[in-house]
Amino acid sequence: MTEAAPKKEPRRKFQAIRGTRDLLPPDTALWNHVEETAHSVFSTFGFGEIRPPVFEPTELFARAVGGETDIVSKEMYTFAASPESESDESSNETISLRPEATASICRAYIEHNMQQLPQPVKLYCMGPMFRRERPQKGRYRQFYQIDAEVLETVRPDASKDAAKELTKDAIVDAEVIEMVMTIFDRLKLPGAQLEINSIGHAAENCRRGYVEKLRTELLKIKDKLGTDSQRRIETNPLRVLDSKLEHEQPIIATLPKIADHLCDDCKTHYAAVKRELELRGVFYKENWRLVRGLDYYMRTTFEITAQGLGSQNAVCGGGRYDGLVELLGGPPTKGIGFAIGEDRLILSLQEAGRSSLVRRGGPLVYVAWMCANAYAAAVHATKDLRAVGVRVELPPVEQKLGKALERADKLGAHYALILGDNEVAEGKWTLKTLADGTQQKFTETQLLDFLKKL
Ligand code: AMP
Repeated sequence: MTEAAPKKEPRRKFQAIRGTRDLLPPDTALWNHVEETAHSVFSTFGFGEIRPPVFEPTELFARAVGGETDIVSKEMYTFAASPESESDESSNETISLRPEATASICRAYIEHNMQQLPQPVKLYCMGPMFRRERPQKGRYRQFYQIDAEVLETVRPDASKDAAKELTKDAIVDAEVIEMVMTIFDRLKLPGAQLEINSIGHAAENCRRGYVEKLRTELLKIKDKLGTDSQRRIETNPLRVLDSKLEHEQPIIATLPKIADHLCDDCKTHYAAVKRELELRGVFYKENWRLVRGLDYYMRTTFEITAQGLGSQNAVCGGGRYDGLVELLGGPPTKGIGFAIGEDRLILSLQEAGRSSLVRRGGPLVYVAWMCANAYAAAVHATKDLRAVGVRVELPPVEQKLGKALERADKLGAHYALILGDNEVAEGKWTLKTLADGTQQKFTETQLLDFLKKL
């Protein structure tokens, strides 16, 4: 009896997981341009780069972002830490892919005793974040943020002059906002619009009092609200102000406004932020409904929107979070930061046709070598040209001239560098400009000089 041939399984065609995507050339040139611009602006404002890990104990995010938030309660990618490797805490601890960067940066600030460095400490980072949200245009499950934070531990001998401290904080806030607007300005982001608000601080005579008042008012009109807003009356009434539901808009417009319930310190601080933004020529719009989704914010909150993004039009969100470092076990520390959504920033730049402005390096040279004699010279010249930054394509096979020119054209080359028997004998290369078909002869040194200048 013959054995039955093993049944062939159809080969599975793998695809990127829903909500994730490949960033491909030539788009990645724009991503790099955005990141280089950010690196350069950050450096002019005295920020240093930090690269925290992409996973941390779940507890860190639960404590920092807030256990009640959608991010922590529904959207984190969480898995078991293997007992001895990932964590030296208890073996049933879970770890999560980071949904945002602020918590990690605060954790690193504490872990590396950065309160001993000259204050404030100004840090930035870039990289992927993970949230299990419903994917749509501009919303992904792996997305990228460019994040900056300013942290300042309050020294016991710090100035006791409260007004001076409030102004100092406001100046830091304004400078951070000025910095992100500078990045957008350099990138020529179309229609960048800054909105600001103050959400006060957690005290009875400030936000806590306001939230209670808001809850009381919301309970009176509960029946007119959607189910999400009804739930939020209990869990987080401020978030009702975030609602985008059409029928809720006229109702929300009549609710009490936080600006009328800020304590004197928060009022002084907010007025100073506005004054400082004006001094820096940063245009803003006030939006009393801007509360932001994360628990840790206080006083300044801000958001920046851009064109061409549909409903997901926020490209940056940020705010002040004094007290977060302490909540994570560190010393009393002030903080302010923001996160730019890089995916959306790129989308907006692409919609506005900005991708074409990105320089993709120097001219592309296609080396058309056409005899065995020429090959070694072609390899050496390619190496020399690349060393001075010229982009060179060296085909691995010998080609006829017509074929080589055709391929050079397909690749978008600017020049074909022709090396056949004649050129080898003469010790000179022929450089053909593909756009107009003109040709020039060069020794290798002349050629390097000519191409370097372009
Ligand atoms: P957040 O950390 O929620 O304050 O978000 C800051 C910025 O990150 C937002 O303004 C968005 O531009 C971007 N962002 C947040 N979530 C996503 C997501 N799921 N996909 C793409 N971008 C996002």
